[in-house]
Amino acid sequence: MTSFFRPNIESMAGYVPGEQPKPGTPIIKLNTNENPYPPSPAAMAVLQTLDSEWLRRYPDPYANEFRQAVSEALNVPANWVIVGNGSDDVLNVIVRACGEGDRRVAYPMPTYVLYRTLAEIQPAKTVEIPYGEDFQLPIAELVAENAAITFIASPNSPSGHVVPTNDLRQLAAQLSGVLVVDEAYVDFADETALPLVQEFENVIVIRTLSKGYSLAGLRLGFGVAQPRLLEGLFKVKDSYNIDAIACLVGSAAMRDQAYKNACAEKVKVSRAQLALELKQLGFRVWDSQTNFLLVQPPMGDAETIYLTLKEQGILVRYFKQPGLSDKLRITVGTDEQNQKLIQLLFAHFGF
Ligand SMILES: *Cc1c(COP(=O)(O)O)cnc(C)c1O
Repeated sequence: MTSFFRPNIESMAGYVPGEQPKPGTPIIKLNTNENPYPPSPAAMAVLQTLDSEWLRRYPDPYANEFRQAVSEALNVPANWVIVGNGSDDVLNVIVRACGEGDRRVAYPMPTYVLYRTLAEIQPAKTVEIPYGEDFQLPIAELVAENAAITFIASPNSPSGHVVPTNDLRQLAAQLSGVLVVDEAYVDFADETALPLVQEFENVIVIRTLSKGYSLAGLRLGFGVAQPRLLEGLFKVKDSYNIDAIACLVGSAAMRDQAYKNACAEKVKVSRAQLALELKQLGFRVWDSQTNFLLVQPPMGDAETIYLTLKEQGILVRYFKQPGLSDKLRITVGTDEQNQKLIQLLFAHFGF
Protein backbone atom coordinates (compact mmCIF):
# COMPACT_ATOMS: atom_id res chain seq x y z
CA MET A 1 0.00 0.00 0.00
CA THR A 2 1.33 3.46 -0.82
CA SER A 3 1.86 5.80 2.09
CA PHE A 4 -0.03 9.04 2.62
CA PHE A 5 3.20 10.54 3.90
CA ARG A 6 6.65 11.60 2.79
CA PRO A 7 9.20 8.86 3.52
CA ASN A 8 10.80 10.72 6.45
CA ILE A 9 7.40 11.15 8.11
CA GLU A 10 6.46 7.52 7.47
CA SER A 11 9.65 6.26 9.12
CA MET A 12 9.98 8.67 12.06
CA ALA A 13 8.76 7.86 15.56
CA GLY A 14 7.23 11.24 16.46
CA TYR A 15 7.75 13.17 19.69
CA VAL A 16 6.19 11.63 22.79
CA PRO A 17 5.25 14.33 25.34
CA GLY A 18 5.15 13.53 29.05
CA GLU A 19 1.80 12.26 30.35
CA GLN A 20 -0.76 15.02 31.01
CA PRO A 21 -3.56 13.82 33.29
CA LYS A 22 -6.69 16.03 33.36
CA PRO A 23 -6.44 18.99 35.77
CA GLY A 24 -8.06 17.94 39.04
CA THR A 25 -6.82 14.33 38.84
CA PRO A 26 -5.43 13.55 42.28
CA ILE A 27 -1.89 13.01 41.15
CA ILE A 28 1.44 14.56 42.06
CA LYS A 29 2.83 15.61 38.73
CA LEU A 30 6.62 15.69 38.73
CA ASN A 31 7.14 14.60 35.11
CA THR A 32 7.08 17.64 32.81
CA ASN A 33 8.85 20.36 34.81
CA GLU A 34 5.87 22.59 35.37
CA ASN A 35 6.26 25.19 38.11
CA PRO A 36 4.43 24.08 41.28
CA TYR A 37 3.29 27.65 42.01
CA PRO A 38 0.45 29.52 40.25
CA PRO A 39 1.13 32.23 37.65
CA SER A 40 1.52 35.87 38.72
CA PRO A 41 -1.70 37.34 40.17
CA ALA A 42 -1.16 40.31 37.84
CA ALA A 43 -1.25 37.93 34.86
CA MET A 44 -4.41 36.21 36.11
CA ALA A 45 -6.09 39.59 36.69
CA VAL A 46 -5.76 40.39 32.97
CA LEU A 47 -8.24 37.59 32.17
CA GLN A 48 -10.99 39.51 34.00
CA THR A 49 -10.49 42.57 31.80
CA LEU A 50 -11.02 40.85 28.44
CA ASP A 51 -14.08 41.44 26.34
CA SER A 52 -15.27 39.72 23.18
CA GLU A 53 -13.40 42.15 20.91
CA TRP A 54 -10.14 40.47 21.87
CA LEU A 55 -11.49 37.25 20.39
CA ARG A 56 -13.42 38.64 17.43
CA ARG A 57 -10.38 40.32 15.89
CA TYR A 58 -7.11 38.79 14.68
CA PRO A 59 -4.24 39.29 17.11
CA ASP A 60 -1.12 41.40 16.51
CA PRO A 61 1.06 39.24 14.18
CA TYR A 62 4.24 40.24 16.05
CA ALA A 63 2.81 40.38 19.61
CA ASN A 64 4.35 43.83 20.00
CA GLU A 65 2.88 44.40 23.46
CA PHE A 66 4.74 41.32 24.65
CA ARG A 67 7.94 42.24 22.78
CA GLN A 68 7.87 45.58 24.61
CA ALA A 69 7.49 43.79 27.96
CA VAL A 70 10.45 41.53 27.09
CA SER A 71 12.47 44.54 26.02
CA GLU A 72 11.93 46.21 29.40
CA ALA A 73 12.50 43.06 31.47
CA LEU A 74 15.66 41.89 29.70
CA ASN A 75 17.02 45.20 28.46
CA VAL A 76 17.11 44.17 24.80
CA PRO A 77 15.64 46.12 21.85
CA ALA A 78 12.02 45.09 21.13
CA ASN A 79 12.87 44.43 17.47
CA TRP A 80 15.41 41.78 18.57
CA VAL A 81 12.55 39.60 19.85
CA ILE A 82 10.56 36.93 17.97
CA VAL A 83 7.54 35.51 19.82
CA GLY A 84 6.25 31.96 19.50
CA ASN A 85 3.32 29.76 20.50
CA GLY A 86 5.54 28.24 23.16
CA SER A 87 9.29 28.14 22.63
CA ASP A 88 8.77 24.89 20.69
CA ASP A 89 7.18 27.04 17.99
CA VAL A 90 10.31 29.20 17.77
CA LEU A 91 12.51 26.08 17.58
CA ASN A 92 10.28 24.77 14.79
CA VAL A 93 10.52 28.02 12.84
CA ILE A 94 14.34 27.95 13.11
CA VAL A 95 14.54 24.40 11.71
CA ARG A 96 12.13 25.23 8.89
CA ALA A 97 14.04 28.40 8.00
CA CYS A 98 17.62 27.11 8.26
CA GLY A 99 17.71 23.31 7.99
CA GLU A 100 17.21 20.88 5.11
CA GLY A 101 19.12 17.79 3.92
CA ASP A 102 22.83 18.53 4.18
CA ARG A 103 22.10 21.79 5.94
CA ARG A 104 22.42 19.73 9.11
CA VAL A 105 21.17 20.02 12.68
CA ALA A 106 23.74 19.25 15.40
CA TYR A 107 23.43 18.94 19.18
CA PRO A 108 25.22 17.31 22.10
CA MET A 109 23.56 14.26 23.67
CA PRO A 110 21.61 13.66 25.84
CA THR A 111 19.36 16.69 25.35
CA TYR A 112 15.83 17.82 24.51
CA VAL A 113 14.43 15.17 22.13
CA LEU A 114 12.39 17.69 20.12
CA TYR A 115 15.52 18.89 18.26
CA ARG A 116 15.76 15.50 16.58
CA THR A 117 12.02 15.36 15.89
CA LEU A 118 12.01 18.77 14.20
CA ALA A 119 15.00 17.79 12.03
CA GLU A 120 13.33 14.51 11.04
CA ILE A 121 10.17 16.32 9.95
CA GLN A 122 12.04 18.84 7.78
CA PRO A 123 13.99 16.56 6.98
CA ALA A 124 17.50 17.72 7.79
CA LYS A 125 20.32 15.34 8.67
CA THR A 126 21.14 15.20 12.36
CA VAL A 127 24.54 15.06 14.01
CA GLU A 128 24.45 13.80 17.60
CA ILE A 129 27.63 14.24 19.61
CA PRO A 130 27.86 12.77 23.10
CA TYR A 131 28.61 15.10 26.01
CA GLY A 132 32.00 14.52 27.62
CA GLU A 133 32.62 13.35 31.20
CA ASP A 134 30.72 15.59 33.63
CA PHE A 135 28.81 17.11 30.70
CA GLN A 136 31.74 18.99 29.18
CA LEU A 137 30.55 20.61 25.93
CA PRO A 138 32.20 18.87 22.92
CA ILE A 139 33.19 22.20 21.36
CA ALA A 140 35.80 20.95 18.87
CA GLU A 141 33.50 18.22 17.55
CA LEU A 142 30.58 20.62 17.12
CA VAL A 143 32.83 23.16 15.38
CA ALA A 144 34.19 20.43 13.08
CA GLU A 145 30.62 19.60 12.00
CA ASN A 146 29.77 23.30 11.47
CA ALA A 147 26.09 22.43 11.04
CA ALA A 148 23.53 24.90 9.70
CA ILE A 149 21.90 24.78 13.16
CA THR A 150 23.58 23.83 16.46
CA PHE A 151 21.20 23.42 19.39
CA ILE A 152 22.46 23.74 22.96
CA ALA A 153 19.97 23.57 25.82
CA SER A 154 21.46 25.46 28.76
CA PRO A 155 20.53 24.57 31.41
CA ASN A 156 20.20 21.20 29.70
CA SER A 157 17.43 18.65 30.05
CA PRO A 158 17.54 15.96 31.36
CA SER A 159 20.97 16.54 32.93
CA GLY A 160 20.21 19.89 34.61
CA HIS A 161 23.69 21.33 34.01
CA VAL A 162 24.52 24.79 32.69
CA VAL A 163 26.94 25.16 29.79
CA PRO A 164 29.40 27.92 30.78
CA THR A 165 28.85 31.09 28.72
CA ASN A 166 32.53 31.07 27.76
CA ASP A 167 32.14 27.63 26.13
CA LEU A 168 29.15 28.92 24.19
CA ARG A 169 31.13 32.02 23.22
CA GLN A 170 33.94 29.86 21.80
CA LEU A 171 31.41 27.81 19.88
CA ALA A 172 29.58 30.85 18.49
CA ALA A 173 32.84 32.43 17.34
CA GLN A 174 33.82 29.35 15.33
CA LEU A 175 30.47 28.37 13.79
CA SER A 176 29.21 29.91 10.59
CA GLY A 177 25.73 28.43 11.10
CA VAL A 178 23.16 29.44 13.69
CA LEU A 179 23.80 28.68 17.37
CA VAL A 180 20.53 28.24 19.26
CA VAL A 181 20.87 28.49 23.05
CA ASP A 182 17.66 27.11 24.54
CA GLU A 183 17.28 28.71 27.98
CA ALA A 184 13.95 27.13 28.97
CA TYR A 185 15.22 26.71 32.56
CA VAL A 186 17.26 29.89 32.91
CA ASP A 187 14.98 31.27 35.64
CA PHE A 188 16.37 28.62 38.01
CA ALA A 189 20.02 29.10 36.96
CA ASP A 190 22.93 31.31 37.97
CA GLU A 191 24.03 32.13 34.44
CA THR A 192 22.56 33.29 31.12
CA ALA A 193 24.08 33.40 27.63
CA LEU A 194 21.95 36.42 26.66
CA PRO A 195 25.01 38.73 26.31
CA LEU A 196 26.18 36.57 23.38
CA VAL A 197 23.32 37.93 21.27
CA GLN A 198 25.04 41.34 21.35
CA GLU A 199 28.39 39.82 20.38
CA PHE A 200 27.36 37.43 17.59
CA GLU A 201 24.83 37.74 14.79
CA ASN A 202 24.57 33.92 14.50
CA VAL A 203 23.30 33.42 18.07
CA ILE A 204 19.64 33.20 19.13
CA VAL A 205 18.68 32.73 22.78
CA ILE A 206 15.33 31.03 23.35
CA ARG A 207 13.17 31.59 26.45
CA THR A 208 9.77 30.28 27.55
CA LEU A 209 7.04 31.30 29.99
CA SER A 210 6.20 27.63 30.58
CA LYS A 211 8.65 26.92 33.39
CA GLY A 212 9.77 30.00 35.33
CA TYR A 213 6.50 31.89 34.84
CA SER A 214 4.12 28.95 35.53
CA LEU A 215 2.35 29.43 32.17
CA ALA A 216 2.88 26.13 30.33
CA GLY A 217 -0.82 26.02 29.39
CA LEU A 218 -0.74 29.51 27.84
CA ARG A 219 1.87 28.56 25.18
CA LEU A 220 4.22 31.51 24.99
CA GLY A 221 7.94 31.59 24.28
CA PHE A 222 10.36 33.86 22.47
CA GLY A 223 13.77 34.17 20.89
CA VAL A 224 16.26 37.05 21.15
CA ALA A 225 18.62 37.67 18.23
CA GLN A 226 19.90 40.42 15.98
CA PRO A 227 17.43 41.63 13.33
CA ARG A 228 19.35 40.02 10.45
CA LEU A 229 18.70 36.54 11.85
CA LEU A 230 15.10 37.33 12.82
CA GLU A 231 14.30 38.58 9.31
CA GLY A 232 14.34 35.05 7.83
CA LEU A 233 12.48 33.58 10.80
CA PHE A 234 9.63 36.08 10.42
CA LYS A 235 9.10 34.88 6.85
CA VAL A 236 8.53 31.33 8.10
CA LYS A 237 6.39 31.76 11.23
CA ASP A 238 2.61 31.55 11.03
CA SER A 239 1.12 35.02 10.58
CA TYR A 240 -0.92 34.85 13.78
CA ASN A 241 1.09 32.45 15.91
CA ILE A 242 0.41 34.29 19.19
CA ASP A 243 -3.20 34.44 20.29
CA ALA A 244 -4.48 37.73 21.67
CA ILE A 245 -5.03 36.40 25.20
CA ALA A 246 -1.57 34.83 25.44
CA CYS A 247 -0.04 38.13 24.38
CA LEU A 248 -1.84 40.11 27.11
CA VAL A 249 -1.48 37.57 29.93
CA GLY A 250 2.14 36.94 29.02
CA SER A 251 2.95 40.64 28.95
CA ALA A 252 1.63 41.06 32.50
CA ALA A 253 3.62 38.02 33.66
CA MET A 254 6.79 39.37 32.04
CA ARG A 255 6.29 42.71 33.79
CA ASP A 256 6.01 40.92 37.15
CA GLN A 257 9.63 39.79 37.41
CA ALA A 258 9.53 40.07 41.21
CA TYR A 259 6.85 37.38 41.49
CA LYS A 260 8.62 35.05 39.05
CA ASN A 261 11.93 35.48 40.87
CA ALA A 262 10.33 34.84 44.27
CA CYS A 263 8.80 31.55 43.03
CA ALA A 264 12.11 30.53 41.45
CA GLU A 265 13.89 31.16 44.78
CA LYS A 266 11.40 28.87 46.55
CA VAL A 267 11.97 26.18 43.93
CA LYS A 268 15.74 26.48 44.34
CA VAL A 269 15.49 26.04 48.12
CA SER A 270 13.24 23.00 47.65
CA ARG A 271 15.60 21.62 45.01
CA ALA A 272 18.51 21.66 47.45
CA GLN A 273 16.40 19.98 50.14
CA LEU A 274 15.07 17.29 47.76
CA ALA A 275 18.58 16.59 46.44
CA LEU A 276 19.87 16.19 49.98
CA GLU A 277 17.11 13.78 50.97
CA LEU A 278 17.50 11.69 47.82
CA LYS A 279 21.23 11.47 48.47
CA GLN A 280 20.50 10.33 52.01
CA LEU A 281 18.39 7.53 50.50
CA GLY A 282 21.44 6.52 48.47
CA PHE A 283 20.49 8.06 45.12
CA ARG A 284 23.11 9.59 42.89
CA VAL A 285 21.90 13.15 42.20
CA TRP A 286 23.40 15.37 39.51
CA ASP A 287 23.89 19.09 40.25
CA SER A 288 20.97 20.98 38.78
CA GLN A 289 20.39 24.59 37.75
CA THR A 290 16.82 23.78 36.73
CA ASN A 291 13.53 22.90 38.42
CA PHE A 292 14.21 19.16 38.14
CA LEU A 293 16.77 16.61 39.26
CA LEU A 294 18.37 13.81 37.27
CA VAL A 295 18.83 10.93 39.68
CA GLN A 296 20.05 7.35 39.66
CA PRO A 297 18.53 4.96 42.19
CA PRO A 298 20.92 2.97 44.38
CA MET A 299 19.31 -0.36 43.50
CA GLY A 300 16.37 -1.80 41.60
CA ASP A 301 15.69 -0.62 38.10
CA ALA A 302 14.55 2.90 37.35
CA GLU A 303 11.63 1.74 35.20
CA THR A 304 10.15 -0.32 38.07
CA ILE A 305 10.45 2.66 40.40
CA TYR A 306 8.79 4.90 37.80
CA LEU A 307 5.91 2.41 37.41
CA THR A 308 5.47 1.90 41.15
CA LEU A 309 5.42 5.64 41.83
CA LYS A 310 2.85 6.05 39.06
CA GLU A 311 0.60 3.41 40.63
CA GLN A 312 0.90 5.32 43.88
CA GLY A 313 -0.09 8.63 42.28
CA ILE A 314 3.27 10.27 41.62
CA LEU A 315 4.37 10.84 38.03
CA VAL A 316 8.08 11.25 37.29
CA ARG A 317 9.83 11.02 33.91
CA TYR A 318 11.53 7.86 32.69
CA PHE A 319 13.46 7.83 29.40
CA LYS A 320 14.02 4.43 27.81
CA GLN A 321 17.18 5.63 26.06
CA PRO A 322 20.85 4.67 26.11
CA GLY A 323 22.55 6.39 29.05
CA LEU A 324 19.24 7.34 30.69
CA SER A 325 17.39 4.05 31.21
CA ASP A 326 18.89 3.64 34.71
CA LYS A 327 17.88 7.17 35.74
CA LEU A 328 14.78 9.23 36.51
CA ARG A 329 14.06 12.91 35.94
CA ILE A 330 12.08 14.35 38.82
CA THR A 331 10.50 17.82 38.73
CA VAL A 332 10.93 19.79 41.95
CA GLY A 333 7.44 20.19 43.44
CA THR A 334 6.27 21.99 46.55
CA ASP A 335 7.96 20.86 49.76
CA GLU A 336 4.82 18.90 50.62
CA GLN A 337 4.86 17.06 47.26
CA ASN A 338 8.57 16.34 47.55
CA GLN A 339 8.03 14.92 51.04
CA LYS A 340 5.36 12.53 49.71
CA LEU A 341 7.81 11.36 47.07
CA ILE A 342 10.53 10.73 49.63
CA GLN A 343 8.09 8.88 51.90
CA LEU A 344 6.91 6.64 49.05
CA LEU A 345 10.44 5.83 47.95
CA PHE A 346 11.27 4.91 51.52
CA ALA A 347 8.10 2.88 52.08
CA HIS A 348 8.23 0.88 48.86
CA PHE A 349 11.90 0.41 48.30
CA GLY A 350 13.39 0.88 51.74
CA PHE A 351 16.17 2.94 50.30
C1 LIG B 1 10.08 22.71 28.30
C2 LIG B 1 11.15 22.92 27.27
C3 LIG B 1 10.88 23.64 26.11
C4 LIG B 1 9.47 23.92 25.65
O1 LIG B 1 8.90 24.97 26.15
P1 LIG B 1 7.50 25.52 25.59
O2 LIG B 1 7.74 26.98 25.63
O3 LIG B 1 6.49 25.04 26.55
O4 LIG B 1 7.28 25.03 24.20
C5 LIG B 1 11.92 23.95 25.25
N1 LIG B 1 13.17 23.50 25.49
C6 LIG B 1 13.45 22.76 26.57
C7 LIG B 1 14.84 22.30 26.79
C8 LIG B 1 12.44 22.45 27.49
O5 LIG B 1 12.70 21.68 28.53
